[in-house]
Amino acid sequence: MSSPGEDGSSIRRSKRRAAEIATAAITGSPQEPKEDPIERKRARSVQKKKKTEAPKKSEPPPKAEADPSEIVASDDGLEAGEEEDEQAGETHVLERLSTSVSPMKKRIVAKRKTDAEEDDSCFLGDPVPEEEAKLRWPKRYEKDSAKRVSITNNGKDDDDDVKAKRHYLQARVDRCTYNLYEDAYVKAGEGEDNYICRIVEFFEGCDGQLHFSAQWFYRAQDTAIKNASSFDDGKPDHFHDDRRVFLSDVKDDNPLNCLVSKVHIVRVTPNLDLSSKRESIPPCDLYFDMSYSVSYSTFANMPVEEAETGKLAPKSDIASGSSTSGQRNQLLLLDLYSGCGAMSTGLCLGANLSGVNLQTRWAVDFNPHACESLKFNHPETEVRNELAQDFLAVLHEWERLCQKFGFGNENVLPEEDSSDDDEGPDEGSTVSSGEFEVGKIIDMCYGETSGVKKVGLKFKVRWKGYGPNDDTWEPIEGLGKCEERIRDFVRRGYNKKILPLPGTVDVICGGPPCQGISGFNRFRNYEAPLQDEKNKQMVVYMEIIEFLKPRFVLMENVVDILKFAKGYLGRYALSRLVAMNYQSRLGIMAAGSYGLPQFRMRVFLWGARPTEKLPQFPLPTHDVVIRGGGPVEFESSVVAYEENQPRQLKKELLLYDAISDLPPVANDESRDEMDYLAAPETDFQKYIRLSREELMNLSPTGEMLSQKRKLLDHRPLRLNDDDYQRVCYIPKKKGANFRCLPGVTVGAENKVDWDPNVERVLLPSGKPLVPNYAMSFINGKSSKPFGRLWWDETVPTVVTRAEPHNQVILHPEQDRVLSIRENARLQGFPDFYKFFGPLKERYMQIGNAVAVPVSRALGYALGQAVQRKGDDKHVFILPPDFPNRTIQSEIID
Ligand code: SAH
Repeated sequence: MSSPGEDGSSIRRSKRRAAEIATAAITGSPQEPKEDPIERKRARSVQKKKKTEAPKKSEPPPKAEADPSEIVASDDGLEAGEEEDEQAGETHVLERLSTSVSPMKKRIVAKRKTDAEEDDSCFLGDPVPEEEAKLRWPKRYEKDSAKRVSITNNGKDDDDDVKAKRHYLQARVDRCTYNLYEDAYVKAGEGEDNYICRIVEFFEGCDGQLHFSAQWFYRAQDTAIKNASSFDDGKPDHFHDDRRVFLSDVKDDNPLNCLVSKVHIVRVTPNLDLSSKRESIPPCDLYFDMSYSVSYSTFANMPVEEAETGKLAPKSDIASGSSTSGQRNQLLLLDLYSGCGAMSTGLCLGANLSGVNLQTRWAVDFNPHACESLKFNHPETEVRNELAQDFLAVLHEWERLCQKFGFGNENVLPEEDSSDDDEGPDEGSTVSSGEFEVGKIIDMCYGETSGVKKVGLKFKVRWKGYGPNDDTWEPIEGLGKCEERIRDFVRRGYNKKILPLPGTVDVICGGPPCQGISGFNRFRNYEAPLQDEKNKQMVVYMEIIEFLKPRFVLMENVVDILKFAKGYLGRYALSRLVAMNYQSRLGIMAAGSYGLPQFRMRVFLWGARPTEKLPQFPLPTHDVVIRGGGPVEFESSVVAYEENQPRQLKKELLLYDAISDLPPVANDESRDEMDYLAAPETDFQKYIRLSREELMNLSPTGEMLSQKRKLLDHRPLRLNDDDYQRVCYIPKKKGANFRCLPGVTVGAENKVDWDPNVERVLLPSGKPLVPNYAMSFINGKSSKPFGRLWWDETVPTVVTRAEPHNQVILHPEQDRVLSIRENARLQGFPDFYKFFGPLKERYMQIGNAVAVPVSRALGYALGQAVQRKGDDKHVFILPPDFPNRTIQSEIID
């Protein structure tokens, strides 16, 4: 028997592999592209390369220390998520073509024997009969094998299958006998934990060497989670069981003598109830219950191979108010950090289009104006204007109260409601003046009671004989004698589902704000991001999920969560979901790809309980130029077509498509409502003008448009006199900005300077026409200040502010910034969506929002998953006529 370890060429390969492995385990991607993707050339569509390119022999192994994805702190006044890279926005675009999808191929190092060590590795027993071997492993016996005899000498076929002479079912290494399909530890690099694999082939190669083929198991720290149990969230119970591994679809060939020892790995049925899962694990070294795929960082259930278990996996035993797919009238959604509700609005629209009746039942946000907008547009939603952390405390208290009074207990029948009206005055018996009696309790919350320092549960009391204006919040301690009233409140609240209970929520969506990663924040905590108060909401969000155990989760966030501190917060989110036994999948989506003239990239993370089908990501519907990219390490999460994958994409949308039909308004426009004046000109405008009913009935025919409807919120942030004068000076042409003003020249490296021959022009107020801040913004290299948009452009990202000082936000032909409605259109809000609060607050709600067409596409994906439709791929193609599909007949009712 020849010994591959002693073969010179084999060792060379091994050395390289050792170097790769050293970084692979750390970076999760041994084949990271070396250049920043935004440096690459322009491409017209989002697509990705199908197959990983093997690194060339001559290339040095990837380096772990340089993290090209790390963001550079910029104090340009932009918020997290308003990440427009000045240069990326103007000159560079990402080319997905040259992007590699990097499956984390485990590279192993051949166990090198010392001279004293005897290599006894060999195959045992007879070879598998040739005919059978060719049937089972056809590629190993393909004709061109002669060409590829050597896997190491020319380097070209490095990743190709080694061709086989014959296969075996058993092998011996270091006096240990291994059978095919057994699991084993495999020698890794110096100082590293051994790798873990399932042996899926034993064969003698045409190169005369002995090989086994390994299908790798990943430990949590080998996946995109990386940090695994070391997150600093102050939650000792958030950990990954050291014995839990994930089966990947990555396989490769290795010298036989790399096998170190056997390991007993058992397959465990996924089960959300972690304690019963623990109990169900038989004695073993390791166990697995999910697969892991580097693409879209996916943790998912595996189809139960009947050959392996002989029976289907039992259903989860967690108590749940939800039934399995499609049997319920209505699925209930909780929108956390809801803002004005764009994300849930889109999700419900999309789910509805797929035939699933999803409704936003609860929404939580601490901004009162955002809550007002949400309530107005979704009167059926219980909108809670409170901090998410207080909401979590309320949830605990609510469960306790429901249990105390026996509601939710199947043995206790809910009582009929007799007095549900919380609006009117409490009628009861009259009370003599000076006396107050609790009429009824109508709400509860958590927080500080005014005048009292203590934080705790409070009830809103309607006093007997008084109306709503006299309602007060009272701490629970003061209501000791009102047990009956509290019980009444809990009964009514339980029946009306004013708050969710564990197991009663179908979907939780929302984006926990992580302001601690903003480039604007000078005190960013790189070492321990979760210690930063500004990032704590990520923990709160996960706690709410842990408590309510929804069937599905959809988290949204800025791409910076995958960049800041090496993607710490993104990894944390993934880690928590997986530790809670959720399947999960991470995607980066560009809003423009779903039919908007806006670029806007965001991260989305699906979670699905093990008993559900994990939702896919919807592939782009529109052909857009991708500007700037996601972090290199998460490139395989950018939701995009594979290279050469057939596609039918619609033309990208431009500013004209979105707003050309809106009437002109002035800088000082003060009307919140006005007439449209003109008919819609484009398909986008026809769709966006549909009424709520028309949208839900999915019938975008022009005739149904209500002629009487008013145009809402079409007014701009009013610029002060100086800024208004400046704007009036900016020519009405493509690319115009402060650089067009007198006295400004552009020199080397696109840097602005004062023209020494031109005297500085002053405004009537005495202030300069060209303000200093415009000249010095981004060291004079920016052309954004006072920039005009043009009709044939897409907007980089709609942000929360409307000031024209550091962003391109001027209307092409009017002397003003884009109006609230224009921004809303760029975010895909239907025209009927009305915004509340001062103007700046309304811009804020819109800038904060998840672009509606994106969440609508995701809602469709969710609806498909609820109905267990679609395949197991990470992505799917939306119907060609989406979102104009009429499928009323399919709607579950
Ligand atoms: N998903 C929303 C946008 C949310 S923006 C949409 O698509 O429309 C984030 C929101 O989180 C803001 O509205 C902000 O008011 C809210 N927020 C921030 N911190 C919060 C906290 N601690 N509790 C509740 N809401 C919070």
